[in-house]
Amino acid sequence: MKQVLILSILSLFILAQSKTGETHMTENEHKSEKEWQTCLTPEEYSVLRKKGTERPFTGKYYKYMEDGTYVCAACGNELFSSKTKYDSGSGWPSFYEAIAEGKINYKEDNSLGTARIEIQCANCDSHLGHVFDDGPKPTGKRYCINSVSLDFEKTK
Ligand code: FE
Repeated sequence: MKQVLILSILSLFILAQSKTGETHMTENEHKSEKEWQTCLTPEEYSVLRKKGTERPFTGKYYKYMEDGTYVCAACGNELFSSKTKYDSGSGWPSFYEAIAEGKINYKEDNSLGTARIEIQCANCDSHLGHVFDDGPKPTGKRYCINSVSLDFEKTK
């Protein structure tokens, strides 16, 4: 009887472990570069996976002011609310705050001879843009994002 009880507890423990694992793993985190190349357009691939930058004033969202949520173009992870979007004059969609903590990863970027903070989707590691300290109140941050890295979900 005692053994059955121990076994049950053990299997419950294993079940709980595997459930926790599942919530942290999505297929996006495990895509190979080849898979990304097939599921993204060449422009999306060059920005999201190769850290490219779209030309300023050309992106589809830089002047877009509809109410809704901006998500990662590669995996659908929610990134920014339209409530925090503003016109920074830079030619790229700009936001003063991420939609929630943990949605974005911040990485030091010393390319181009300057120290910048690159931002990536926390779910699939895709390149989104950079964050600067010259944004408006209340955060003073400017999340400078490639339109190519974003999709938009309108508030219904
Ligand atoms: Fe993503």
